[in-house]
Amino acid sequence: MSVTTFAPGRVEVLGNHTDYNDGLVLSAAIHLGVTTHAVKIPEAELRVSSRTNQRNVRVTLSGLHRLETDGWANYPIGVVDVLQQAGFQLGGMELEISSDLPVGAGLSSSAALEVSTAMATKAIFDLAIDPMQLARLCQKAENEFVGVQCGLLDHVSSVFGKADSLILIDFKTLTVETVPLPEHLDLLLFNSGVPHELVGGEYNERRQQCALAAKLLNVSTLRELTPEQVRIADLNDLIRRRALHITEENERVVQGVAALRSGQIERFGELMFASHESSKINFENSTRYLDTLVELAKGLPGVFGARLTGGGFGGSVVCLIQPEHAPEIIETVSKRYHELTGATCSPILTEPSQGARVI
Ligand code: ADP
Ligand code: MG
Repeated sequence: MSVTTFAPGRVEVLGNHTDYNDGLVLSAAIHLGVTTHAVKIPEAELRVSSRTNQRNVRVTLSGLHRLETDGWANYPIGVVDVLQQAGFQLGGMELEISSDLPVGAGLSSSAALEVSTAMATKAIFDLAIDPMQLARLCQKAENEFVGVQCGLLDHVSSVFGKADSLILIDFKTLTVETVPLPEHLDLLLFNSGVPHELVGGEYNERRQQCALAAKLLNVSTLRELTPEQVRIADLNDLIRRRALHITEENERVVQGVAALRSGQIERFGELMFASHESSKINFENSTRYLDTLVELAKGLPGVFGARLTGGGFGGSVVCLIQPEHAPEIIETVSKRYHELTGATCSPILTEPSQGARVI
């Protein structure tokens, strides 16, 4: 018995670092992702190979453990481990992974790899597991087995993505709503070519600063606060700016949903630029590369908004554009970016796409 699954990468369109603060995010699955071909085998083993890096590993199901040299394999091994820990009965399996999603570009190849593994395991062993539980178990694998403290945004977006729509995720209630993107719009991503390093300390440091702000203000998470309450609170400048970013991002998501639903695309674009500015000034998770990309996109014909997407500290920006202008936007931004920074960016023109599926 065999099955093939595809799990897409994701782009966060509004709502930055809000997921682990019980907040709101507007995101989309993109058309690129990770494909996993899974075959049942009689041996009680997990065998994983990746065409991306030409590596393969083999571990016994009863002795799953983290690998040091083949760290990439900890993502699929971790998923199988958390599924077993959750009580699901699995047998031997061989996974062959291929991908058209850039790695470390902030488009969540790690979540795509986990979700496609989980979907394949679910399909091949007929597991009774609902989509939100699947997303949460994948996050658990990344948090506890791989050891990266990512939020749930990546996995939920990869699982719940909808063609032609953004999805609105509420991380307090763990509910997902669909917000149609007007037909004449596309998402243009620019990978800054400077990989993010979420395993580095900055992401965890931001999480701790958000938790500290909530603690100092006597709330369980920053979701409970408005920007106004943060502004007047007795906090030091750094912690106030971190808390302002999160609370304002939540508001921007609410305003962004209203703007999209009433067809006010320019307004939505302004919210994207404001989000980037807040990342730059208040959350300090941008880089001069990402700032340059956003500045270059700003003001070009056909660009409504642009901002960094995902964790930050490198990775990609997302622009909301009119597709007929894509060729000139790509040409102008790529050329000027290289002139200004010496780095090379890679464009990806995409549109909101369907989430993980058996193919
Ligand atoms: P991002 O999720 O933004 O792409 P991460 O650092 O979180 O970046 O995850 C990237 C890691 O996921 C890679 O370094 C690798 O270990 C693993 N990975 C992703 N896609 C593949 C693939 N196709 N084959 C092997 N490993 C992969
Ligand atoms: Mg990742």
